[in-house]
Amino acid sequence: MPASMQGEMQPAVYRFKFGDFEIANIMDSKVVREGLHPSFGGERPAEEMHALARDNRIDPQRYEHPFIPTVVNTGKELVLFDTGNGALRREREQLRGRLPDGRLIERLGELGYTPADVDVVVITHGHPDHIGGLTEGGQPVFPNARYVFGAAEFDFWKRGENVREARKFNRELFVDIAVPLADRARFLKPGDEVAPGIRAVDAAGHAPGLMAYHIESGGKRLLIWADTCIHYVVAVQRPEWHIDVDDDKDKAVATRKRILDMAATEGLFIAGFHMPFPGLGLIEKSAAGHRWVPVGYQLNL
Ligand SMILES: [Zn+2]
Repeated sequence: MPASMQGEMQPAVYRFKFGDFEIANIMDSKVVREGLHPSFGGERPAEEMHALARDNRIDPQRYEHPFIPTVVNTGKELVLFDTGNGALRREREQLRGRLPDGRLIERLGELGYTPADVDVVVITHGHPDHIGGLTEGGQPVFPNARYVFGAAEFDFWKRGENVREARKFNRELFVDIAVPLADRARFLKPGDEVAPGIRAVDAAGHAPGLMAYHIESGGKRLLIWADTCIHYVVAVQRPEWHIDVDDDKDKAVATRKRILDMAATEGLFIAGFHMPFPGLGLIEKSAAGHRWVPVGYQLNL
């Protein structure tokens, strides 16, 4: 009898040693979305997107959009960067059909951690797919955690001034689930440290105060760039193209160029929230521009 079809099976957790730290990337969830264009490069002819997709052997019409939090064990503290989608799809009517169920907690379990083990939750920015796993049923998911927010990011969503139409619900959500955590939170400026070896880097643009985090241990360096680039081909090879989910389009372009240049020049490993799993790569620079080079075995040696 022929073997029965078993369906997709793909890795969802990936852990490696990084100097004195251990770092893991976790696939919270993923969705397939329609139409790279006009969500990306909407100000340009669709044909340019089709040519770019063809050159990179990807589908021009459909793309996979993963959500990949990172957890760093410094040996003293377990630090989680972003919380994925959590129960938003079930709890918030407005996000139904847009976001998948978050599976971060189940997959933290595969890594040997319970929610109670998380000492610090760092929120890179206030968009739903990053704050969604902070609470479930109105209760904090990480009972022992302290929180870290970028000061400018927290302030923007809390004040609620100049929030563009497409982010009005996002603002309500932030006020509902993130603002009440303020009394257990620290608010960082670029350059501030979360813990020794973990430093905030300004990456504003995609969100008003988006923060990337530079991780350094035992002479190794990695940048958690969060949503600096949200597609491994389009945003990296065409950083100047506008992206509809960027809150400040021009600033996002300038930030992408600056961070890509820094990553290539300094040879940083990158952990990207929306890069193909395991969301780890390096940036190569050539005359043609920048390119995402997925990590092979460099982190395993
Ligand atoms: Zn995101």
